[in-house]
Amino acid sequence: MAKKILVGMNKEEIQQYVEYLEQPGYRGRQIADWIYKKSVLDFSEMKNISALFAKQLDETSRIHAGKIIDIAKSKDGTNKYLIGFDDGNAIEAVLLPYSDRISVCISTQVGCGVKCRFCATGINGFRRNLTAAEIIDEVLLLQHESGRRISHVVYMGMGEPLFNYENVLDSIYKLNNELEISMRRITVSTVGIIPRIKMLAKENIPITLAISLHAPNDDLRKRLIPIADKYPLDELIESCKLYVKQTGRRITFEYLLIKDVNDSISAAHELGKLLRGIMANVNIIPYNKVEGLPFSKPETKKIDMFKGILESVGLTVTQRMEKGQSVSAACGQLRLRNKFGGK
Ligand code: SAH
Ligand code: SF4
Repeated sequence: MAKKILVGMNKEEIQQYVEYLEQPGYRGRQIADWIYKKSVLDFSEMKNISALFAKQLDETSRIHAGKIIDIAKSKDGTNKYLIGFDDGNAIEAVLLPYSDRISVCISTQVGCGVKCRFCATGINGFRRNLTAAEIIDEVLLLQHESGRRISHVVYMGMGEPLFNYENVLDSIYKLNNELEISMRRITVSTVGIIPRIKMLAKENIPITLAISLHAPNDDLRKRLIPIADKYPLDELIESCKLYVKQTGRRITFEYLLIKDVNDSISAAHELGKLLRGIMANVNIIPYNKVEGLPFSKPETKKIDMFKGILESVGLTVTQRMEKGQSVSAACGQLRLRNKFGGK
């Protein structure tokens, strides 16, 4: 029989499981603590559990859903991890340590079916959704690696989170309840799946929703994001306003700046007009080169000019820090082929 995976179970479920093994319930809470707070890899590391019980646990269950199978290290401390699962699939997750916080960028699917023209993940298409346990395990495995409690989680790795809605939501609740990561420190990025944005608004949880906009009009957006055909900008903006109204949370609009594609002065003005009056931040992301794709980032002067125009109409603009350049570790440009192993 396949071993039970403990990651993804809440305290009560772990408690029930140890009771089934004829151990007192409080052992379950201790085990949950070792898994979620101390992020151990092995039952033998659980110091207040007897060797005999650890052996019993080991015979019927295992802690983790996945395991780290490769690491790409960057000089600035940003590391990218390849995490493999039993079925042979693998995904990437990124650890971003700062002095005051430690952030992880996690994947929600193996590949992505949306196939945005500029994105490395989309190139190989969609394989499967990750389970909630696999998503949570990305955070735990990286927490173990870093030796520090993870403070921030961004769902900006491989895949479209809102196409794996239930598992993503389940993982958010468990990151909050079991790892005690504040909802306010969790960000979910979506390409803009309108019906799911409305569902998430009803959930009314204080996470940050980030919308990958990347264009100020439908024509350009459709050229970059095929699914924009189905979800027109005016309806997308309406759903964002609804989200802000229902949750009281400020939305983030991500705008990937691609040289000579969406970086013109008129695009900046058009974007300013589109977003005027919405409680929003705009996050400018200078494009990270993907081998084989015909896109590049604009010069710094152009980026600053674009930002300046948005600010002049009263928008709050931030620019994504370009950490982890040497390992192509920026979220959203993760790709399985050709990046581990020194190329
Ligand atoms: N599917 C979701 C979340 C994963 S992508 C989404 O599209 O929002 C996370 C972010 O990284 C998106 O804003 C995406 O457009 C961006 N991204 C994709 N490829 C990139 C690249 N080469 N350089 C910089 N950002 C990129
Ligand atoms: Fe999928 Fe997001 Fe990449 Fe588009 S940008 S292909 S939605 S991961």
